[in-house]
Amino acid sequence: MNLHEYQSKARFAEFGIPVPMGEVAHTPDETFALARQACCAVVVKAQVLAGGRGKAGGIRLANTPEEARDHASAILGMQIKGHRVRSVLIDPAASIAQEIYLGIANDRAEARPVLMASAEGGVEIEEINRLRPEAIVREHVDPVAGLFTFQAVRLASAMDLPRKHWRAFGQIVAALVRCFEESDAELAEINPLVITEDDSLLALDGKMVIDDNALPRQPQLAALHDSSELSGAETMAREAGISYVRLDGQIGCMVNGAGLAMTTMDMTLLYGEARGIGPANFLDIGGGARADTVATALRIILSDENVKVVLCNIFGGITRGDEVARGILTACEEVQLKVPMIIRLQGTNADEGRRIINDAGLSGIHAAGTLTEAARMAVDAAENDL
Ligand code: GDP
Ligand code: MN
Repeated sequence: MNLHEYQSKARFAEFGIPVPMGEVAHTPDETFALARQACCAVVVKAQVLAGGRGKAGGIRLANTPEEARDHASAILGMQIKGHRVRSVLIDPAASIAQEIYLGIANDRAEARPVLMASAEGGVEIEEINRLRPEAIVREHVDPVAGLFTFQAVRLASAMDLPRKHWRAFGQIVAALVRCFEESDAELAEINPLVITEDDSLLALDGKMVIDDNALPRQPQLAALHDSSELSGAETMAREAGISYVRLDGQIGCMVNGAGLAMTTMDMTLLYGEARGIGPANFLDIGGGARADTVATALRIILSDENVKVVLCNIFGGITRGDEVARGILTACEEVQLKVPMIIRLQGTNADEGRRIINDAGLSGIHAAGTLTEAARMAVDAAENDL
């Protein structure tokens, strides 16, 4: 789960990282009021879960409250990389002497978090890495021993940070590591961390990605979830406890179990890839799914207009074949199934499930005995419709 800039910075502040004292506005008039309360000039910043807002015109400096209101009118409603701007952060403007990059993420190959810093901040880290990879310095953090003070010093030294900033920088590095760990984050990034003209350090931008699997033990962070940033299908999936990731193929996959779901996707690619056909989604209805969950899953799959065929691959363990069959029939009654559906049902109550589906006598629904057969049929059906 991604946090908005204002949420990330509020979280940073809880760990002692200095951030501008800004507030969020949803209208130009609210912006005007906030800017009038501010001591000086403000920056009006689009709050969307996308980077590169500056380049897209979503970050604007305003010298007067009137100017701030005009900027808010222009920014609110704007589309940035497909995200609609619904709110703006009004921060007191900082006078910048230097922009630094500081971030921490998991390094899977090293099985440890890695701190990354660069004296050439402001631009995206991928960009720095492409143009001048040697400008990024790194320190791995031992997950048991934690961060050592000398590591922050080593970063500061390697990036040629003036010595007078080392102490403040070291404190920010330590706070960011704690914030990353205690938030179960996958990424915590300050870009830019600025040295202001009066020589203090300030986190002007913030980005955090929280591990979705940790949200149950991070209720404070889970509550920050912005459902307006999810598509309708993603919201439906989240609420029903279905794992759903949209992809760009044509075969809508409804499967129980993550492993079987991936196998099913692999099988459609095995027969379809050379013909330009692949899975339209990853979807795991979860163990023990009941009829209504199955119906929701089918609605989610069919909300993607690229779907030309639905491949339903269920291995009944805790999930029962008859429940799945009833769910499919319920969903077919509600959503008009305009595409063919291939069903492979095995395991607990599979015979009963197949009987329920056959008895319903719906056209366009085909049973397959094996996964190989099901994948072949789905690819053929998708191709005939292309
Ligand atoms: P991003 O483009 O989405 O990464 O948004 P940022 O919050 O990082 O802002 C982009 C750029 O705008 C920064 O790198 C700064 O150069 C500039 N900027 C942001 N806030 C301020 C500010 O308070 N004062 C000044 N002068 N520039 C700012
Ligand atoms: Mn930034």
